[in-house]
Amino acid sequence: MSSEMKQATCSCGFSVVSDDETEIVEIIQNHADGKHGKAMTVKDVRGMLKEA
Ligand SMILES: [Zn+2]
Repeated sequence: MSSEMKQATCSCGFSVVSDDETEIVEIIQNHADGKHGKAMTVKDVRGMLKEA
């Protein structure tokens, strides 16, 4: 089992760190929609993921 932490950072500076990619995707999608009125796909968010 791997417990690599992943991080996604929004262009506004908001960032999420978790070992659960699904959780990161949900949080970033909610953030992008709520804060920026921008719909992001799972693929978009996965493209932002980096090792944390
Ligand atoms: Zn943002």
